[in-house]
Amino acid sequence: MARTHLNLILPQLPKPDHLQPNDLPSPANRIVCPECGNDEDFVEVAENVVITTLYTQNLDGSFTLEEDDSQVLGALKLICAQCEADLSQFHSRFAEMLF
Ligand SMILES: [Zn+2]
Repeated sequence: MARTHLNLILPQLPKPDHLQPNDLPSPANRIVCPECGNDEDFVEVAENVVITTLYTQNLDGSFTLEEDDSQVLGALKLICAQCEADLSQFHSRFAEMLF
């Protein structure tokens, strides 16, 4: 009985945690962590990054940031945010799907 009641009111509740409606077909090429099944949160780690920042000094001696440039010299890794498994094998796919 309670379940019938829930089914009646649930569709009217907002679902702030879901950006996509559940009834959309999920693409077959979604990345899923083989270790823990996580398919939502991923961390990209850049090794050996050189960050160059141009500042101009103002009349009062303070500085204003003019230009910010970062250059990745090392590898880019993809890490599961849940279990920290190395998912770098999926990184090229990740980069393709980055918008
Ligand atoms: Zn994982």
